[in-house]
Amino acid sequence: MPPELYETLHATFGFSAFRGVQEQVVARVLAGQSTLAVMPTGAGKSLTYQLPAVVLKGTCVVISPLIALMHDQLRSAEANGIRAASLTSADTDRQQTIERFRAGELDLLYVAPERASQPHFLELLHAGRISLFAIDEAHCVSEWGHDFRPDYRLLRPLMDAFPQVSRLALTATADAQTRADVLAQLGIPDDGLIVAGFDRPNIRYAIRHRDNPVRQLTTLMAEQPGPGIVYAPTRRKVEELAEKLAQATGRTVLPYHAGLPGEVRAANQSAFVASEDMVMVATVAFGMGIDKPDVRFVAHAGIPKSIEGYYQETGRAGRDGEPSEALMLWGAEDFARARQRLSEVEAGRREGERARLDALAALVETGGCRRALLLRHFGEDPPASCGNCDNCLEAPGIADVTELARKLLSAVYRTGQSFGFGHVEKVLTGVADERVLQRGHDQLSVFGIVPVSEAPLLRPLVRALQARGSLVPTEHGGLALGGDAREVLKGNAAVLIALQPRREKMRKGRRERTGGTSLPVGDPLFEALRALRRELAQEAGVPPYVIFHDSTLREMAENRPTSLAALGEIGGVGTRKLEAYGEAFLSVIRQH
Ligand code: ADP
Ligand code: ZN
Repeated sequence: MPPELYETLHATFGFSAFRGVQEQVVARVLAGQSTLAVMPTGAGKSLTYQLPAVVLKGTCVVISPLIALMHDQLRSAEANGIRAASLTSADTDRQQTIERFRAGELDLLYVAPERASQPHFLELLHAGRISLFAIDEAHCVSEWGHDFRPDYRLLRPLMDAFPQVSRLALTATADAQTRADVLAQLGIPDDGLIVAGFDRPNIRYAIRHRDNPVRQLTTLMAEQPGPGIVYAPTRRKVEELAEKLAQATGRTVLPYHAGLPGEVRAANQSAFVASEDMVMVATVAFGMGIDKPDVRFVAHAGIPKSIEGYYQETGRAGRDGEPSEALMLWGAEDFARARQRLSEVEAGRREGERARLDALAALVETGGCRRALLLRHFGEDPPASCGNCDNCLEAPGIADVTELARKLLSAVYRTGQSFGFGHVEKVLTGVADERVLQRGHDQLSVFGIVPVSEAPLLRPLVRALQARGSLVPTEHGGLALGGDAREVLKGNAAVLIALQPRREKMRKGRRERTGGTSLPVGDPLFEALRALRRELAQEAGVPPYVIFHDSTLREMAENRPTSLAALGEIGGVGTRKLEAYGEAFLSVIRQH
């Protein structure tokens, strides 16, 4: 590619190189070839149309499904000195925007698909010069995707009216069916598909049994002072956790769920977007359309719906590429409830839903690399270990508990598949309490067959068997055989469980491994830079990350540039921001 392009990349965005497939995508766009780029969250999709928009003559028309998303992109683009505007019902300067477009004074014009499909919009486009059509969240055009938007179907006729203008469709949605459909619906040739790897190397995955969620989440929050999201399964749990976490940590923790009044939701959301340390406890209703780059952790207080859901939700952490954490806390009852709900699912979808749960159980239960399992799930062929998940950092012990599992399942069977774990445990370990004697369970062949030394394995084993569906709950809270239980009983299926190492060790490993990469929170210069950023953000009425990202401040604190030229070499400092904020940041650096 021409050297001027790298100059523009540096001058506009302050980046010294492309990331991943960005260069490939930009090359196609500049060559006038229509393209579908499938890139995971945080891979830097917006740059692939914003850079061409700056370089090419005319205006790049960006179709985006949510006003909040558009305005977020717009703010960031303008902060980099790109000439951008949006045409939505929320914009009061529409007439001015139309004039700027006609006069060729816009690099980017953001519109919603509803507007794009109106006849007068077509007229407007004919009155200006278009350089590119960029279709964000392009999976919305497909009924296969999870958020189909019929208006996206009307884009094709609009774009067909400008056959000389190429199209760039962007999405983070992986599955093959949706991709093929997007290509067809938007008229992009099959060889225009570029798929980036799905790995998010800066996200550390950890999955633990939920023994005391408030304490477990408090520990996480102590280690991660930045913004975070905690997903909880119900509205009631959301409110309860938000309150307890706020109390336990003294940090700002707010709730978000569909049952809250619209204005409360909006206020909590904008507080979160603007914050450098707030935690949002939310149902999965929260997150879509939130482009906050500095979310440092995403926690699940219960199991997500599927691996796809888990990946999407955890993907909201660390868009800026800085170290971030995904923590899932699970309980056997989560799986029990989800498996119970399977019976309510219509017959045609039941097997698919069961397979989703099994895949999730495998993720939770594995003693191997979490990332490898996730990426294989999405059809990739990753290395066997990543070095940045709980199991890679501290290998769990793997215990072959096939014999113990047979004893346990046998006891469940012989006691009539109606008792809970407590009773079954007593029978197995030979505790003859009143209830055991009353039922005559001390007379069973399974009474007392588990030695004291193995008794501590019973609880993790029951959890594992419930997760994989070999044990299922009865209506009255008892345990019954399910799934592959009979195969295990017959000795035809092995049962291995991962024994999680103690948490203390895990934390030590963490400190050693993150080394100097995490943010120097508490460092006086870094804090002073953050304070200046907050001030500038408030003045401009934008979230702090629009001024500079954390990684940019971290680099400033590390390298202590003392001239504008040196400051301009820091990642994320483009010409526009250097002019606007350079002197202010230099003076803070000089004072420390
Ligand atoms: P996506 O839309 O794919 O989730 P964004 O376009 O929001 O990703 O970009 C994610 C982050 O990556 C942004 O903070 C952006 O500044 C950063 N980024 C993008 N491209 C580069 C690059 N070439 N070098 C460094 N940082 C980049
Ligand atoms: Zn790993």
